[in-house]
Amino acid sequence: MHSGEIWKETLDYLQGRMNRPAFEMVMKNIEPLELENDLLTLQVTGPFAMEYFQSYKDEIQEAASLQARIPIQLDVVYKELDEDSRAGSDRQEIAREAIIRDRSIRQAPRNGRATATLNDLYIFDTFVMGESNQFCYNTSRAVAEKPGSVANPLFIYGDVGLGKTHLLHAIGNYVIATRPDLKVIYRHSMAFVNEVMNYIKDGRFVEFRNSYLHADLLLIDDIHYLKGKEGSQNEFFQLFNTFYENKKQIVVTCDRPPKELVGLEERVVSRLGWGVIADISSPNYETRLAILKRKLEKDNFLDSSSFPEEVLDCIASNICTNIRDLEGVLTSVLAKAKYNHQPVTISLAEEIINNIAPLKNPSDITPQSIIGEVCGHYNVKTEAVLGKSRKKEIVIPRMVSMYLIRDITKMSFMSIAEIFEKDHTSVLYSCEKVADMMAKDPFFKKTALGIKERITG
Ligand code: ADP
Ligand code: MG
Repeated sequence: MHSGEIWKETLDYLQGRMNRPAFEMVMKNIEPLELENDLLTLQVTGPFAMEYFQSYKDEIQEAASLQARIPIQLDVVYKELDEDSRAGSDRQEIAREAIIRDRSIRQAPRNGRATATLNDLYIFDTFVMGESNQFCYNTSRAVAEKPGSVANPLFIYGDVGLGKTHLLHAIGNYVIATRPDLKVIYRHSMAFVNEVMNYIKDGRFVEFRNSYLHADLLLIDDIHYLKGKEGSQNEFFQLFNTFYENKKQIVVTCDRPPKELVGLEERVVSRLGWGVIADISSPNYETRLAILKRKLEKDNFLDSSSFPEEVLDCIASNICTNIRDLEGVLTSVLAKAKYNHQPVTISLAEEIINNIAPLKNPSDITPQSIIGEVCGHYNVKTEAVLGKSRKKEIVIPRMVSMYLIRDITKMSFMSIAEIFEKDHTSVLYSCEKVADMMAKDPFFKKTALGIKERITG
């Protein structure tokens, strides 16, 4: 096989597995140059395509290896956009828009020191401080600067979409950047539960505990998911004691204060309150506006002629509680204006705000309740769906769960990936696959929509 053949088959394989704007605008800007033994050299044109290529290199490499039936290594040659194709870079910008969320979920294990993936966009510099999060921000920063000595454990709580995960990652990213001698572990609680189950099933308690005990900083996200999971609570309790006794830092996030954590053992709850408890509340208007401006600035859109202040005001006044929604509306406004070549106006913003309002996630719908409902329908165990089985009767409910979590809660692919302990691209593929199956198979569509209806009521 020569490079052209392998690349063509790789593209055929990835088409339909990648999101369409990414495929059309980015993959087609990659050309195969040569294949020498197992080394495939690709030419990538333009900075955005390059950035995207770097994020998805592993997936592309895997696809090429599958086609070639040997493990392929990729080498890359970068080519600047020439004048003619600079016009085309506008199209790349549109692709950027469409996959902006994907990019932000790129997983970045660095230097092999973080055993879980931290989002490198979630840092202190990108976090806008306001009255609602000031204490939490300052304490998180102090903890990151002096892990183990100022607030241990740090317990961060607040409603969904207010920046808890952002701060948790920011602490991890800061420590990784400033203290190369320290090892950081980040886990979403659902991933933790799943991990405990796998180890216990195989009787590998010691191995499990050891995998945590050489860490210096333990970051546990959404600890309320440990509710009712006694085995996992016990493991957390043991880890907590060891970390605490050794003055190693623990940070957890939660959707409520410790004293409201029903379903968690008293001994665990009491320990969670031993350090500092910091809450994040909904941002006020000024903070919301500042967050919108920061985001525009970051994406180089802060040009008042193309994004009038009154539109920012309209978004900041209407979306009051959830920063994730605030960002979502902004991204949609920008994308829609660009695709339709229309100016950014109040009526465009209102149209988008009205569209999302009915979709607002009722707070009692959680990923857990969605997975539970899907498992109930397919009559399979939650543990199996959260596990690694590749059996069809498990894979389908797993994919449907991912799809419905994304569809109903609008959680990021990365957050969903954490729950299932998967790479975010496999969540992306699963969601696309389910959408595709729904489009092709009316019976399957009816099933999926039926489950959704039971969840959303
Ligand atoms: P939570 O974990 O509390 O549900 P996240 O940390 O996932 O919320 O935040 C939701 C989104 O809002 C993320 O994209 C995050 O970067 C953004 N965000 C939250 N708070 C802030 C802030 N103060 N400044 C900038 N972005 C923020
Ligand atoms: Mg979170």
